Amino acid sequence: MKSKQTYTCKDVILVSMPWSLFSRPSIQIGALKAYLKLQFPYLNIAAHHFYLKVAETIGYKLYHSISESTWLAETIYAAMLSPEKLKTIEKIFYREAGVKPLFRKSSFKELVSKVRKVTDVFIESINWNKFCLAGFSVCQCQLTSSLYIIKQLKIKYPDLKIVLGGSTFAGASKEVFKLIPEIDFVVKGEGELPLSQLVHHLGISNKRNKIPSIKGVISRESKENDNLDIFYQMETLDSLPMPDYDDYFNLLQTFGSKKTFFPTILSEISRGCWWRYAQRSKKIKGCAFCNLNLQWDGYRSKGHSKVVSEVDNLTSKYKSLSIAFTDNALPVKESKKVFTQLKELKKDFRFFSEIRATTTMENLKIMRDAGMSEVQIGIESLSTRLLNKLNKGTTAIQNLEIMKNCEQLEIVNNSNLILQFPGSDKDDVEETLRNLEFVAPFRPLRQVNFWLGLGSPVWQNPQQFGIKALYNHPLYADLLPQNISSIRFLIQAYRGDLGYQKKLWKPVKQRIKKWKMEYESLQNNSFFEPILSFLDGRDFLIIIQKQFNNKKTLTHRLKGKSREIYLFCRHHRSIKKILEHFPELPNDKIISFLRIMVDKKLMFEENKKYLSLAVQK
Ligand code: SF4
Repeated sequence: MKSKQTYTCKDVILVSMPWSLFSRPSIQIGALKAYLKLQFPYLNIAAHHFYLKVAETIGYKLYHSISESTWLAETIYAAMLSPEKLKTIEKIFYREAGVKPLFRKSSFKELVSKVRKVTDVFIESINWNKFCLAGFSVCQCQLTSSLYIIKQLKIKYPDLKIVLGGSTFAGASKEVFKLIPEIDFVVKGEGELPLSQLVHHLGISNKRNKIPSIKGVISRESKENDNLDIFYQMETLDSLPMPDYDDYFNLLQTFGSKKTFFPTILSEISRGCWWRYAQRSKKIKGCAFCNLNLQWDGYRSKGHSKVVSEVDNLTSKYKSLSIAFTDNALPVKESKKVFTQLKELKKDFRFFSEIRATTTMENLKIMRDAGMSEVQIGIESLSTRLLNKLNKGTTAIQNLEIMKNCEQLEIVNNSNLILQFPGSDKDDVEETLRNLEFVAPFRPLRQVNFWLGLGSPVWQNPQQFGIKALYNHPLYADLLPQNISSIRFLIQAYRGDLGYQKKLWKPVKQRIKKWKMEYESLQNNSFFEPILSFLDGRDFLIIIQKQFNNKKTLTHRLKGKSREIYLFCRHHRSIKKILEHFPELPNDKIISFLRIMVDKKLMFEENKKYLSLAVQK
């Protein structure tokens, strides 16, 4: 590299636009700022988590509700981008907002005007001329806001070089520069190495329009025979510096005590998905609906000591104890060590993470003891038939077991149940409905209608799932200027069996509604009281089964061997294992006991495997 004086690029700006979750700094720009700083110590890097300013302006509650829905979020800046479509966009806004009282109070036009004003003030407050590069991280819900700002910037600062990265543009081709001429570069995949190369070349070049080809970066000048889909990734994550969130916290401090809150800090242990990586030689790699891995090639994980020191340093530096891990799925071996050591730090952490349903009770307990208070588990379905179609690599009984374990450990389980998956049939729905009767004592799952993600295995193999045609979700055409909506975006639509699927899954929707109502009504006291629990009397067991609709709570007493069998099946067991474990008991006696337990919904049975459902009080 050249000496400090020869560099002409000394200032870079990184921006994250609405509608990122306001309560957490952007890990994308935090990580990139830290990495660039390490590579180019002389570089001034302005990192703007601008979405936080917008949240403060319109109010945190309203911002949060908008940011929870992709289409709702995209309407606000769409109205600024395509004013000729205002009426259509306004209609979409109110339709997506539904009946929430918060939205009934706010007028769409007023909201747009407020957001436009704060965005324009943001643009005016910065001398963009001094930056040799402006980078925008464009992930879910940030498409229209990013397009709006780059268009405004290029009108005022035509020489400003603009680079986009993030999942929204992961599928971008050279076409993007024709359709959105304001963009100069797109980083494909993770940003650290490609962006450093870009900054380096901009810094040494006197002609900024003549940047040589850089791996992982596409530009107007990219040649057709350059391999535009190759990522340029860090070999190991251990050399990454700790993310720099100073700018987010500095901005928050300017809001005054009434508007301050304790943000959730983001940290990452791994990139990619180990489960998908394990299936790399198969035709369908990973879960059929998943496109979370568009930005990574393969799988990498940090060493446990690095993670522990990073979490320790981040929480000490920013004085917040709430950490969300951004991993697609926590690594199994490393996590055990990570959470064992995090516990030893003796800090009252509050962790959130996404985990697989195969996570054992032992590991879950280690996580809980370190501070894991909320998880999103890859449950997705309560039907093993459907889980096979989803290529999830799990079964319904495993899902029930981890839902029960979360209830036992008082970890909030915020997981999804996917409905209307293409190719699902009557038998999948029947199995789901049957199994829904057994999960009633556990925290309800969130129903999510299947949506087709760009690059997901379903998208790559549409015929296998009965899909006849693929195209952008039609709302892109309603929201975006006409030329831009022809780019392939993250949310896809398809011609297939959607009408049939909607009808098919109706009874499941109704059952989930009932499940939520019953669970909430049985949990309406301030202390957490499991709905199905047991007390152990050493040689007998009392199972307490609360009932809905003010019906009397049932109690069941299991003595001697019955108690032992029930405890043995706290982890799901095959009938073969159960019979082997109790050789002194006649087989028919065990089988008839198990049948009674299942009839009373105290145990669950699937494919001759049994699981006790009550949690220990
Ligand atoms: S859904 Fe989760 S486990 Fe499945 S492939 Fe995606 S990231 Fe991996």
